[in-house]
Amino acid sequence: MFDFNNKKINFDDVLIYPKASRYNSRKEIILDSKINFPKSRVSWTGIPLMASNMDFVGTFSMGFKLQKHYISNAVSKFYTKEEWVQSINEGLNLDYNFLTFGLDEIKTISKYISHITSKTNKVPKFLVFDVPNGYIKKFSDVIEITRKEFPKLGIIAGNVVTAEGVKILIESGADGVKVGIGSGSVCSTTDVTGIGYPQLSAVIECSKEAKRHNAFIVSDGGIKTSADVVKAFAGGAGYVMLGSLFSGHIEGGAPITKIKNKEYRTLYGMSSTQAMNKHYGNVADYRASEGQSILVEDKGTIENTISQILGGIRSACTYIDAKNIGEIYEKSDFILV
Ligand code: 5GP
Repeated sequence: MFDFNNKKINFDDVLIYPKASRYNSRKEIILDSKINFPKSRVSWTGIPLMASNMDFVGTFSMGFKLQKHYISNAVSKFYTKEEWVQSINEGLNLDYNFLTFGLDEIKTISKYISHITSKTNKVPKFLVFDVPNGYIKKFSDVIEITRKEFPKLGIIAGNVVTAEGVKILIESGADGVKVGIGSGSVCSTTDVTGIGYPQLSAVIECSKEAKRHNAFIVSDGGIKTSADVVKAFAGGAGYVMLGSLFSGHIEGGAPITKIKNKEYRTLYGMSSTQAMNKHYGNVADYRASEGQSILVEDKGTIENTISQILGGIRSACTYIDAKNIGEIYEKSDFILV
């Protein structure tokens, strides 16, 4: 369906052209989607957007707001077990708030899960495993061990950007694979290492591979507008993850900086010097910072941004005769601009 003569593309390189449509109004569009997790045999229903597990984005306050809209949240790795228990007891819904880990020991992962289960009587259903480089052996080992220990837990793992990476993670036990290296708004991996892949091509190629295994991908990084969200779904993404688009809101809790009567909130990359200093006390001397710190104009409550994005998706669907988010993929054709 998408043939760009081997040129690799980003969201800005394409448009989706309109088609005769049966849907006269945005009201007719259904945003709820069902996503099947093939290994754990669980399914998830909601609006398949996900807040990124970044400081000032994947917070519990964000999760409380997003769950009202059936939108999910990869919760920051840096909350303690006790903070999880407290939030769950206050109504945090585990259908939409996912525990996030990195290269953790299975002991650590099990402790979180059993502590939450014993103190709240609720069982986590979905886990996200997030590392900058999803290709390393140690990472697929973590996925394999976790899958053995928790056969019924939904597992999303990444990041990778090629079919090879998708295959490794799915064969290790992931139900879904997070896709994106070098595409994040505060990511400097490409400048520091020369590694990366234009995001929309990564989405198209990786989702093809995932579909071969009845699995799905999460497009992570580079989404600037609701149009990019639509293009990611059109490229085959199951979920779309949002960092900077969900940053700058009250719910993220980032400190405010005032410049010439305007208010800004901080956003930094999780591999930036700021993040490493905050969470690990320093930047290890064998590491270079691969993230930036920026100021984002204060956007008020996340509710504003949610309605804008959902409005954009609904409108796009009416242009391409898609009844719901799932149909965006089948009904979309890209043109290079
Ligand atoms: P955004 O939606 O802001 O364009 O991208 C968000 C994604 O950028 C995150 O979900 C994560 O995958 C990636 N990211 C976050 N912090 C960093 C960082 O410090 N360095 C790199 N390379 N990527 C980051």
